[in-house]
Formats: sequence, structure tokens, C-alpha cells
Amino acid sequence: MISVEEALSRLLAPLGPVPPEQLGLADCVGRVLAEDVAARRTQPPFAVSAMDGYAVRAEDVERVPATLRIVAEIPAGAGFGGRLGQGEAARIFTGAPLPDGADAIVIQEDTERSGDRVEVREGAPRGRYVRRAGLDFAEGDVLLHAGKRLTPRDIGLAAAMNRPWLFVYRRPRVAILSTGDEIVMPGDPIGPHQIVSSNLLALAAFVTANGAEPVMVGNAPDDPDALRHIAAAARGVDLFVTTGGVSVGEHDLVRGVLSEDGLAIDFWEIAIRPGKPLMFGHYRNMPMIGLPGNPVSTLVCSLIFLRPAIRRLAGLPDAVPAPMTARLGVPVKQNDRRQDYLRARLSRTPDGTLEVAPFEVQDSSMMRPLAASDCLVVRPPHAPPLPAGAEVPIISFGGDALPL
Ligand code: AMP
Ligand code: MG
Repeated sequence: MISVEEALSRLLAPLGPVPPEQLGLADCVGRVLAEDVAARRTQPPFAVSAMDGYAVRAEDVERVPATLRIVAEIPAGAGFGGRLGQGEAARIFTGAPLPDGADAIVIQEDTERSGDRVEVREGAPRGRYVRRAGLDFAEGDVLLHAGKRLTPRDIGLAAAMNRPWLFVYRRPRVAILSTGDEIVMPGDPIGPHQIVSSNLLALAAFVTANGAEPVMVGNAPDDPDALRHIAAAARGVDLFVTTGGVSVGEHDLVRGVLSEDGLAIDFWEIAIRPGKPLMFGHYRNMPMIGLPGNPVSTLVCSLIFLRPAIRRLAGLPDAVPAPMTARLGVPVKQNDRRQDYLRARLSRTPDGTLEVAPFEVQDSSMMRPLAASDCLVVRPPHAPPLPAGAEVPIISFGGDALPL
């Protein structure tokens, strides 16, 4: 058995980003940038008015009320060829270029117009309501960097930078194969001794949620020929993931059968709970993760191992999550030599403390407590027993962050 840390570093070592592709900007949301992006235009490209009102020379409105002569009308998208002279103003609208000679905007609400004259009742110091050229950014500024997952805000910024397309990494393709004679897809006809597969769809959802593309290869029964045949269908993907069949039982065929068919195992068995029998290697030149079959093991190991692997393939930098802790609401036992990930709920005590309560039953077959969990409590190997109130490291599932 190797440690979680060693397993993770050996699993990540051979993985690098998939090739980039050129994509229309609106389709780039959620993708990872494969290039540094420099602005192709200064923004704003010229000084503009931030308000509807009058462009003036600040010195002309030092004393108010002041009456100015209107010499131009400048809507957004238009310009004024001339120059404001002493005692002159230009009617101007939000986003319109500031005319030469003007250096301040008096807002409409502070004026009274009659014909080609405007009375200014409130002065405006130089620069008031003027957005200077380059206020936001200048041409050539590098504002988005390779390795960034693009948000709707980034798409807006790239558009403002005058980039209609970007180079982004294509989505990593992850083949998923479940195993077991007892496994039937939800909704399919089911025999008396069979169970419904949660792993295949859960894994597909996990892969999608992490920005990659799942390729569902199907389910291989516990038969060597069938397993060989179905596994061989996983071709041309960036990562091959199996679930089940990697443990020590006679019906756990993945390691033995596929080893005779192009699988080179790097490691098997990790000091982790749930998920000890996890395997990593290369199957026909594709990196391959053999996840354990128990549904909770599959998903916890996905969080610990598959997610970082997808990030590597996707061109993202390794995540350095801020260490998070919570106070135990109940005592926990001494741990053995496997790093334990306890399914747990989070709550706030009346004084605002983040409190965590692991579920009493930590059976790796039970989806209901996993789905009801907010986090995992991490118990390092040989961690001592802890009383209620002790601080423990947690991995939060993150809740519903706003997708902006
Ligand atoms: P295995 O690793 O194949 O021995 O599977 C361990 C346990 O996980 C067994 O109880 C299996 O029935 C169960 N299991 C395996 N694959 C799945 C799956 N796709 N969905 C739900 N449970 C599974
Ligand atoms: Mg099995």
C-alpha cells in the first residue's frame, strides 16, 4: 500500500494537457485558455462621457450659474470634428467621445437648456464624468493567461479586447467502463440478483462537472473475454476509467485480464478508506485509473484522484485548495494506517463556528449519506482519537457557487 500523496504524484506525473483548439468566443466559457491573451484595442479607445449631459471646459463653469453656447450634439458612436472654445458646450450622451477642448461633463440634471444656450447650475471639476482613454486597459495588455478556466466575465473581457475567438484546450475525453455481472443500468430489465449501477452515470456526471467529456463504454460482465472485448472499445480517449473489479476476489478481473492485453500497472492499493484497491497504469498507451466498485469509494476516489487528473489533462494548474477546517460536533475514534475520508454534514453553531458531524455509519456502499454530505473529514493515517470540539481538516463540496 502506498500513501495517498505518493499515489497522487505518481498518477499525475505522466499527465499533460490535451491539444488546444480554436473556438468562437461564446463557446469558450468553461474551457481552459491555451494562450496568453493580449488586448487588440485600448478600452475605452478615446475619452468618453460617462453621463448624459454637456461637455464643457471646467474653467468655464468654475463660477455658477454660467451660460454656455451649445455648438454640437454628440451621441454615442458619433464624433465632433471641431474644438470647444471659451464659453462653449456640446450636448453629449453616455459613451460618446469627448470633444477636443472639453475636459469635464456637467450632468443633464444640473442644467437648464433654452434653444442653443444651456445654463449650468453646478460646476464640474476637470475630469468629472470623463472616462479617459485606456481607463480599463491598453492595447497590448495581457489580461488573460494560459491555464485559466474561462468564466462569463472572462468572455466579456476577451470580447472587449476585440478577440472573436480563442485558443482553448479541447475538453479531455474520459472513457468510463463499469464492471460486474450484477450491474444493470437504471431503467433496464433487471434480474433477481442484480443491482442498479450508480457508478457509470455518477462518474459521467463527475467528468462533465469537471469540464471533461465522458465517453460511456458500457458495462463489462465478470468474464475475461467480454471484459477484454469491451475494454478494447475504449480508444482514442485521454483517460480510461474503470469502476469495480480491481479488488482481490476471484471475480475481480480488471488487473489480471487487462494486464495480458496491454495494461501496464504502475501501482495498485493505496492506504486510503474508502478506496484501497485503486489502480493506476497505462492501458494501450492511455492512462488508466481503475476505481473500486463501491459507489462511495468510486466518488471519493474521483474527488481525490480523478479530478486532479482531469485538471492536468485540461491544462489547468494543480489546485491548491485553501486548507479548511471545522470543529467536530461529535468525538471520532483513533485511525488506523489508512487515510480516512469521513462523509459528514456541516452546520453553524449559534456563535458562528463551523461544526462538522460525520455520519455514524461510514459504509462505502451507501449513496444516501454521501449525497446528504457537505464535506469529507480527513483523518490522516494513525490520527489519534479526538473529542467533540477538536478542529479537523475537511474537504468541502463547495455548495452552489454563482457561475459568473
Ligand atoms: P467490486 O469492486 O467489483 O468487487 O465491487 C464492489 C462493490 O461495489 C460490490 O458490492 C458491487 O456490487 C458494487 N458495485 C460495483 N460496480 C458498481 C456500480 N457500477 N454501481 C453500483 N455498485 C457497484
Ligand atoms: Mg465486481
